[in-house]
Amino acid sequence: MDAETQTHPVNLILLGPPGAGKGTQARMLTEAFGLVQLSTGDLLREAVAQGTPAGKVAKQVMAEGQLVSDEIVLAILKDRLDQPDTGKGVILDGFPRTEGQAEALDALMLDRGAPISAVISLEVDDEAMIGRIAGRYTCAECGEGYHDDNKPPASEGVCDKCGSTQFTRRPDDNAETVRTRLGAYHMQTAPLIDYYALRGNLKPVPAMAPIDDVAEKLTQIVKEVSDG
Ligand SMILES: [Zn+2]
Repeated sequence: MDAETQTHPVNLILLGPPGAGKGTQARMLTEAFGLVQLSTGDLLREAVAQGTPAGKVAKQVMAEGQLVSDEIVLAILKDRLDQPDTGKGVILDGFPRTEGQAEALDALMLDRGAPISAVISLEVDDEAMIGRIAGRYTCAECGEGYHDDNKPPASEGVCDKCGSTQFTRRPDDNAETVRTRLGAYHMQTAPLIDYYALRGNLKPVPAMAPIDDVAEKLTQIVKEVSDG
């Protein structure tokens, strides 16, 4: 099976905490299978910019400082799914966030004859993830990435690439912030994970493995669901 012989759309939901490599894997799936990545934030911005009917409603709601309702988000998603580039399938990122949204999404996709094929959950080891993220820093001159444990410069305090001695750390790359972020992620996604596990389309993927191994796993899943 490849993108050319694929017969029905592969519609994926990609779940994973910050740092799990969601962006990288979504790009890989986009390139390998012609799937279109749809993130709710981008969809909203596009719909507002294009002035679609749902976009106009969203714009007004946001101008009033209110949250855009599930109904509006689904209307915007539906409009986007109507565009021909989604024919091979989509990767939903950032939606659904609640069980109510998941139910509404299932109804929408079933109605279109293109149900959700699989819900991929990138699973991380929280403590290892905290160590991985909290140790990161970059060269202030050339942007080369380093890590306290995994990739220190060959000569301490000197960039391997450009010789600079100036480095920067993102203020939110500290253990406490990462722990809070992961906790919030688990709280938010636990009901979704239960929801999809009950329906039998949850695919947990260990995401602490090397990027290529994770990509290989995801490729297998897409092949399975598009053959089925
Ligand atoms: Zn440098």
